[in-house]
Amino acid sequence: MSIKTELTSWLQALGDLVYPKPPVCTLCNKSIYQAYFLEYSVENSANPKTQDDANARTEDNASARAYSHRRHQRLTSKEKRYLGKTRIELADHLCSLCYQGLKLITAPFCHKCGRTMTNIKLDGRSKGTDDPQVCQDCIQPSVQHRAFKYARAAAEYNDAIQELIHQYKYRGQRNLVEPLQIIMCNVFELHFKKQPFRIETLIPVPLHENRLAERGFNQALQISKHISNKHKIPIADILERTEYTEKQSKKSKVERTASLEHAFKVKNHNSAEQRHAGMVKAKSVLLIDDIYTTGTTVDACAGVLKEAGAKEVYVLTLAR
Ligand SMILES: [Zn+2]
Ligand SMILES: [Zn+2]
Repeated sequence: MSIKTELTSWLQALGDLVYPKPPVCTLCNKSIYQAYFLEYSVENSANPKTQDDANARTEDNASARAYSHRRHQRLTSKEKRYLGKTRIELADHLCSLCYQGLKLITAPFCHKCGRTMTNIKLDGRSKGTDDPQVCQDCIQPSVQHRAFKYARAAAEYNDAIQELIHQYKYRGQRNLVEPLQIIMCNVFELHFKKQPFRIETLIPVPLHENRLAERGFNQALQISKHISNKHKIPIADILERTEYTEKQSKKSKVERTASLEHAFKVKNHNSAEQRHAGMVKAKSVLLIDDIYTTGTTVDACAGVLKEAGAKEVYVLTLAR
């Protein structure tokens, strides 16, 4: 580096110190500080057209507030810590309005798939199962025999988290990787620390090599890294996606299951990969991905890992 460029970068750093650029929200592009003021004006600018409308809205607000209050009161101290740490982590990336759009998952959630239990019926009992903590989807006979033990996720799959993941995966917002890694670590600590079992290996869900070449990175591998560093759990990138499947969202559930059944296998080409395979045998492993939609992808991967000798497979995703 020449003296001139070094001097320029020093001056730039000094300038940033004196006049720091206000952080901008990743999702709405507004200055993060400005949004704090907007939050108040949005609440006050709601203009009901009729008196009935106004009454309905007040009732809606009141019941929504009462509901969130009840939910908040039920939070365990571990969950409060999870919410607090995650808020701090995202403070420089999301304004408070967009942050409110992000629905972090706390109890009650489905004990099988990890989905939050507010927008679905909680009636496992009526369907003849004794477990009221399992959602409507998970009591279907077709998904009774999942290869994984259970899945957990950081946030409900909605527009906010979808956009955040989209910005990271397709819009080149690589600076999002750090907060996403830390959120994954926070949710890992919430659900997988101080358990009767210990997670011994992290396994990212693989991309097909064509897609990996196109994108340049595997998001599942990237978001596993902080858990690995902080908790000293090795990452074994041993799965391989052998079939180049089309975008899953365009297909029906049946087609999706069929297309994924043989889409994954354990890599076994060189000695490093064979050593990695040893990290699965008789171990409790955690499969990591960004999104859990129907559970078909993680189930297919878990099946392969079970065949390779894994004792138990758990799943952790950013969104569910
Ligand atoms: Zn925003
Ligand atoms: Zn479920």
